[in-house]
Amino acid sequence: MKNVKTSYARSLIEASLDPLVTISADGKIMDVNSATEKVTGVPRQELIGSDFSNYFTDPQKARDGYRLAFSQGKVTDYPLAICHVSGHITEVLYNATVYRDENGDVAGIFAAARDVTALKKAQKELEAAILQMQLVREMTDLLQSCQKMDEAYPIIKAALVRLFANSSGGLYMLDAARNSLVLVDAWGISESELETVFTPDECWGMRRGHIHIARVGQTINPVCGHVKQGTGPYLCIPLLAHSRALGLIYIECQFGSLNAEDVQRELSIAETAADSARLALANLALREELHELSIRDPLTGLFNRRFLEEVLDRELLRMGRCGKMLAVAMIDIDHFKTFNDSYGHDAGDEVLKKAAQLMMDFRVGSDIVCRYGGEEFVVVTTEIQPDKILQRLDALRRVVEKLSIKFGNQQLPRVTVSIGVALYPAHGGNRLDLLNRADQALYVAKEAGRNRLIIADNGLDAQHN
Ligand code: GH3
Ligand code: MG
Ligand code: MG
Repeated sequence: MKNVKTSYARSLIEASLDPLVTISADGKIMDVNSATEKVTGVPRQELIGSDFSNYFTDPQKARDGYRLAFSQGKVTDYPLAICHVSGHITEVLYNATVYRDENGDVAGIFAAARDVTALKKAQKELEAAILQMQLVREMTDLLQSCQKMDEAYPIIKAALVRLFANSSGGLYMLDAARNSLVLVDAWGISESELETVFTPDECWGMRRGHIHIARVGQTINPVCGHVKQGTGPYLCIPLLAHSRALGLIYIECQFGSLNAEDVQRELSIAETAADSARLALANLALREELHELSIRDPLTGLFNRRFLEEVLDRELLRMGRCGKMLAVAMIDIDHFKTFNDSYGHDAGDEVLKKAAQLMMDFRVGSDIVCRYGGEEFVVVTTEIQPDKILQRLDALRRVVEKLSIKFGNQQLPRVTVSIGVALYPAHGGNRLDLLNRADQALYVAKEAGRNRLIIADNGLDAQHN
């Protein structure tokens, strides 16, 4: 009967997946189960009689746990790491109790280990996922406070660098007019190693409208045309919002060393980050477009009066600091009512567009050209010397005079402009004063016979014919 009991107990011990061990009072292994042989890679006959602490990455910690079990009678969930002969480490939690001989004296320790490798891995993954979500949230938060697209790019880049360790890549934005994706920021790789401009149809991610991964595992996904030869695994994440393409995130990463499950997880992080980025970029794009619409005159494409007022105030503040001179030139087309009456409003519009273009071409540096209203324009320019300003503006007057415009088959007569100029600080310290003085000078130019430039000061006629 005793034999049956013993063999039953033995079978139970051997059947356990947890490594079990009994240790004598002097720290020698007395008995093990097959799970112990498996986790250490050491045969039973070698294990028995050897020092139990030999099989841990930290033998001292193992001995401390052993002593603790002796002094307290037991230990629970004592963390240790078992080292296999191959070097493989198994993280475990030990439960150990003392056992006694027939006289009730402590004879040794009975210890059972629970493999917590999977638990630890899951814990690490959870921690990493929490960190990633925090990063995405941080990025979203920062992106919401951006006022311009180019403020958003470095924020997206910084988040991607941290989300994908040891990755490299680039952020591309779509230039719709050129139907091109243009590199706006890169990391981990020099810009010369990336394609800086390419068409959306060179990218499978853009074509398919969803994330594209290539050169990974068994995937049959084709390699995009914009990806350089010799590149490893990569991701292309199209940035689409309201079915409109905005740009592309391109990431080269060591996806090759990951298993399918890990790759899937990386893809979902990439998608979460891209989701946040694309919404923020779409909002910023819309905002920039609305702003553009609100500051541009639709007929000529020049800035409008509202924008001039805003920017002139800003320029005047700046002038105070840089010590340059600023000129406000009010430019008005002469006898334009008569022109319209004779050639029609559409021909008049054509003249306004051509004159606007000419003024845009005339621009240098930070000059501002605006359609102030009707057939009136304002040019704001900065210079060191007033003479130079007047020469340049008068040159503009003469170019307008020579402008030859065709409307349909009809050759339109040439138009002339009168210009009134006020200088900062000589004629005023603020926008209203300067615009008034320029307007008064323009009036003087009209009175004096038109097609001329008058400077506010003294009614000086700066005409250089
Ligand atoms: P002056 O030399 O004194 O400036 O004479 P003017 O006829 O140019 O001046 P006035 O202020 O009497 O007339 C301005 C004209 O500009 C009236 C209007 O027909 C024309 N105009 C204003 N805005 C537009 C526009 O958007 N398109 C066209 N075609 N004409 C416009
Ligand atoms: Mg006029
Ligand atoms: Mg006018």
